[in-house]
Amino acid sequence: MSLTIEKNKDLSGLNSLRLSAQAECFCEVKSVADWQEALAWANSADLPVTILGGGSNVVLAPRIEGLVLHPANAELGLEREDAESVFVRVGAGHDWDPFVRACVDHAWFGLENLVSIPGSCGAAPVQNIGAYGVDLADWVHAVSCIDLNTGEVFERSAADCEFGYRTSRFKTKEAGRLGILAVTFKLSKKPKVNLSYAALHEALDAAGVAPTPINVLKQVEAIRAHKLPNPIVTPNAGSFFKNPVLSTSELSALQNLLPHIPVYPVAEGRVKISAAYLIEQAGLKGFTEAGFAMSERHSLVLINLSASSGQACLHFASRVAERVHALFGVLLEREPIALGTLAS
Ligand SMILES: Cc1cc2nc3c(=O)[nH]c(=O)nc-3n(C[C@H](O)[C@H](O)[C@H](O)COP(=O)(O)OP(=O)(O)OC[C@H]3O[C@@H](n4cnc5c(N)ncnc54)[C@H](O)[C@@H]3O)c2cc1C
Repeated sequence: MSLTIEKNKDLSGLNSLRLSAQAECFCEVKSVADWQEALAWANSADLPVTILGGGSNVVLAPRIEGLVLHPANAELGLEREDAESVFVRVGAGHDWDPFVRACVDHAWFGLENLVSIPGSCGAAPVQNIGAYGVDLADWVHAVSCIDLNTGEVFERSAADCEFGYRTSRFKTKEAGRLGILAVTFKLSKKPKVNLSYAALHEALDAAGVAPTPINVLKQVEAIRAHKLPNPIVTPNAGSFFKNPVLSTSELSALQNLLPHIPVYPVAEGRVKISAAYLIEQAGLKGFTEAGFAMSERHSLVLINLSASSGQACLHFASRVAERVHALFGVLLEREPIALGTLAS
């Protein structure tokens, strides 16, 4: 075995909620050969495999049994181009935010609205990251994958990833079965700004600047810095709950209780509502218990004030979700993924 396997690795600095956690075995993987060697080692020892990127969208169990793989391949390159588009491939271990900035620097456009999202490029397709009117799925061309059982490497087209609102097949039917090695994006050579998100449009107007890709990036960066608690100062995992999607009849029932709830149409007969609004209306903005709180700055962000266990985190989140359900009949679904054994 040429790779370094660390035993009983402390993961408390490798998750943005700063929960205390340990991996039975931990290993960084860069090349395809590294992945295959690590997987063969784990499979021969009958150890389960878990992938941990930047740890910004996970709730970790106190101890993760088996082998935790941490992708470290940060390659970034132009694969090919045509008159309108560039095909850019980025390794799973590249940090997402500097990748977005590098694309804008190279005049490869499309991802500007997704600046300042923490985490790795390899994790980005898992929940189809999205913000300010843009989803990753809008710009993905293909995802390079490795089968965690067999070590087989294959390419999956964007259409086969089954991307949806904060989801994909990597998070659903293939959860825990595939590793993402790299992602190829098809980006535009011409500026293509997306101003569908009203607050972004208003911020550009207020700043009196033209809607160029770099100005969009700067405004998104400024809005996020103002709105969201910085996980380095205040441990958190971003939005802790997804915005619920309701049928129009479910919406009518809810509007009897909350006539002013903001509503965003998503498909024929389906609407998305604001989970943050539900939490606020339930009086839970700033709610604090057992070392956790729903942030005063952004009611959808669960922050860790002093607690250390993933189980306590899920318990606190259930208290919030149960209160919202009891008052408004709407189920809040957790966004971060639990890794290791935790009862939810
Ligand atoms: C302050 C803050 C703001 C955020 N804002 C947003 C936002 O605006 N929009 C948004 O969508 N998300 C947001 N998030 C959530 C998070 O940043 C993203 O989900 C991000 O993509 C997670 O990347 P990660 O590398 O940290 O993944 P991790 O947390 O390490 O892992 C997340 C999941 O992906 C799996 N995974 C990780 N890497 C791989 C891989 N290479 N192959 C296969 N599976 C893998 C893990 O097993 C786990 O199930 C925010 C988080 C924080 C803390």
